[in-house]
Amino acid sequence: MSEIKKIAVLTSGGDAPGMNPCIRAVVRTGLHLGYEVAGIMHGYQGMIDNNIVDMNSHSVSNILQLGGTILKTARCADFRNVEGRKLAFENLKKNNIDALVAIGGDGTFTGLERLSSEYDLQVIGVPGTIDNDLYGSDYTLGFDTATNTVIEAIDKIRDTAESHARLFFVEVMGRDAGCIALRAGIAAGAEAIMLPERDTSIEELIATLNDGVAKNKNSAIVIVSEGDKSGGAFNVAKRVKEVFNFYDTKVTILGHLQRGGSPSSFDRILGCRMGFAAVKALQAGESRKTVGLRGNKIVLTDIEEALKGHEFKLEEDLLEMSTILA
Ligand code: ADP
Repeated sequence: MSEIKKIAVLTSGGDAPGMNPCIRAVVRTGLHLGYEVAGIMHGYQGMIDNNIVDMNSHSVSNILQLGGTILKTARCADFRNVEGRKLAFENLKKNNIDALVAIGGDGTFTGLERLSSEYDLQVIGVPGTIDNDLYGSDYTLGFDTATNTVIEAIDKIRDTAESHARLFFVEVMGRDAGCIALRAGIAAGAEAIMLPERDTSIEELIATLNDGVAKNKNSAIVIVSEGDKSGGAFNVAKRVKEVFNFYDTKVTILGHLQRGGSPSSFDRILGCRMGFAAVKALQAGESRKTVGLRGNKIVLTDIEEALKGHEFKLEEDLLEMSTILA
C-alpha cells in the first residue's frame, strides 16, 4: 500500500443517529493527521455521480447533536455491478482519494468489500445501523438512540393503557434482528416481546397475557418486531382478539420516528470513537477491516469475517429475564 494523502467518508444504507458525530470524527482526525478529507454525498450513488466535496474542520461544525447524516444516504443499485464500481473508482481517482471510510450496515460493507477487492484502495467500514445486527461490534451506531426513542414512546403508551385498561401491540423496527424489541421491552417492562429470531405462538402469548390478568395487571404491552414470524402487530392483535378479550385492544406502529432524533450520549461517544479509530487504522496501513466495540475496547475485524458472521444471536438470557421481571 502506498502512503495515503486523501481520505473520503460516506454514509450508506439506512440512516442512524450517531453517523454525524462519526463523520465529524473522521474529518477532524484526518485533518489532524495531515490528510486531505472529502465527503461523498448520497453514499455509493455520489461516488458514481462524482458528487464529492472537500471537507474542512468547519464543514462538520455543530453537527454532533444532529440525527440523520449531513452527507445524506442512498440505496444505489448500480454499485452492485462491476461497471458501477468501475465508474465509482474512476471518480475517486479523479478526486485523488486513496482511502475510504464507509459508515453503514451489512450492504454497505458488502459494497466496500467488493470495491476494495477489485481496486487498490484502503478501506475501513464503520457499523452504522439502528438494528445492532452486525458481527464484530457489541453495539452499532444508532441502536442506543433508537432504543431510547422506543422506550420513551412505550412509556407514553403505558400511561394511556393503564388509564383505559388496554392491551397495546406496539410494532418496532427489526426485520431480521429483535435487538431493539428485546432491549426496549426489558427497559419499558413489556408483558411480552415477539422477536424475528424466535417463534412465539399465539397460544403462548395468550398464556402470558392470562398470567398478567391473574396478577391483577390493569394493562398489557406486547412489543412486536416488524420481522416477527406471526406477521406484524396488526395480524397478531387480530388473532389474539379472536380468543382473548379481557382488555380493549389497540395497535401502534412506531415506524420511521425510530430512526430520527438527536443521538444519545452513548451514540455520540461511540461515533467519535469509531470515526477516530477508523482514521487511525488507515494511518497504520490497515485496510478491509471494520471498526467495532467489544467490551468497551475498540477492535478491528476483517471485513470478510464481519460479513460471514452477520447473524444476530438471540440473547436468550435477556429474554428469560424479561419474562420473569414483567
Ligand atoms: P445497509 O448498509 O444499511 O445494510 P443496504 O443493504 O441498502 O443498506 O446497502 C447499502 C448499499 O450498499 C446498497 O444500496 C448498494 O449500493 C451497496 N451494496 C449492497 N449490497 C451490495 C453488493 N452485494 N454488492 C455491491 N454493493 C452492494
